[in-house]
Amino acid sequence: MRILVTGGAGYVGSHTVKLLSQRGHDVWVFDNLSTGHSTAVPRDRLIVADLCETHRLDQVLIERGIEAIVHFAASASVGESMREPAKYWRNNVVHSFDLLECVRRHHIQRFVFSSSAAIFGAPRDMPITEEFAPQPINPYGQTKLAIERALHDYHTAYGLGYAALRYFNAAGAATDGSLGEDHNPETHLIPLAILTALGKRASLEIYGTDYPTVDGTCIRDYVHVEDLAEAHALVLEQLKPGTALHYNLGTGRGYSVREVIQTVEAVSGKTIHVKEAPRRPGDPPVLIASSEKIRVELGWQPRYPKLHEIVETAWRWHRKKSSGLR
Ligand code: UDP
Repeated sequence: MRILVTGGAGYVGSHTVKLLSQRGHDVWVFDNLSTGHSTAVPRDRLIVADLCETHRLDQVLIERGIEAIVHFAASASVGESMREPAKYWRNNVVHSFDLLECVRRHHIQRFVFSSSAAIFGAPRDMPITEEFAPQPINPYGQTKLAIERALHDYHTAYGLGYAALRYFNAAGAATDGSLGEDHNPETHLIPLAILTALGKRASLEIYGTDYPTVDGTCIRDYVHVEDLAEAHALVLEQLKPGTALHYNLGTGRGYSVREVIQTVEAVSGKTIHVKEAPRRPGDPPVLIASSEKIRVELGWQPRYPKLHEIVETAWRWHRKKSSGLR
């Protein structure tokens, strides 16, 4: 299949590009490199452009005969979205709308959307199934939900086939050591804990120790980035024009912030200096996925369900990178 991957130079995007290419697809990456890395994708497959440059999009879709879109390009930090909602509405909603209009103009029938557990807000019951009513509590989640709704309308009115994949917490690195998580500034827990273990940061802040959880810290469902890539490939290969799919992607097991820190300490053999800090606005206490639906319908199951294994892949990649071997 000829596939355009927006945001393909980013974290989940680059792992997905690698897998789709390995599975024989003809993959093109459209990325403005605002957060992505040109080194994360094949140079001759990268188109450096912004989604608002719709003439570039039109050109690529025609010249490359694109049959499907995988849309990752977005701003993706919950904390930042609380401080700068305008950035999120513009990058995630306005630019996705530009993309959707291009897709409609060029009669592209398959669209896989990188959505998020953040659309669910802070549900009381766990695990979260696709039946739960979306009720986002931060602008990041609001913008992801807005695009899911636009996709649904395009599906109903124009017959677009789409899949919305709600990731819980993407984590880990390529098992062959070729790719990993590299944000600047870094805001995510596992890479921050690893950078602290490597001595690149003095300490790690725990955002909130008074949540109604076993140890007072937030609980998340960490899912390996290669398992997410696998889900994209499976979904794309099965997606038929005119269908609408929604899948939650996680392991079904939650870990608290303190458990994550202990796991990084165990994997690295280092002690991590932590500081207790106030809650981060916009964070729900607990998010755990039910991924039964995609397991039953498409046979997807995480290959790396254990946090220890996930952290090991991330640790190996960060250590290699910090020793200049990348
Ligand atoms: N977290 C933390 N300290 C940090 C970064 C994150 O305590 O320096 C917590 C955060 O509050 C959340 C969990 O770790 O409960 C996972 O946060 P992350 O930013 O990695 O992913 P998110 O859940 O926001 O997608």
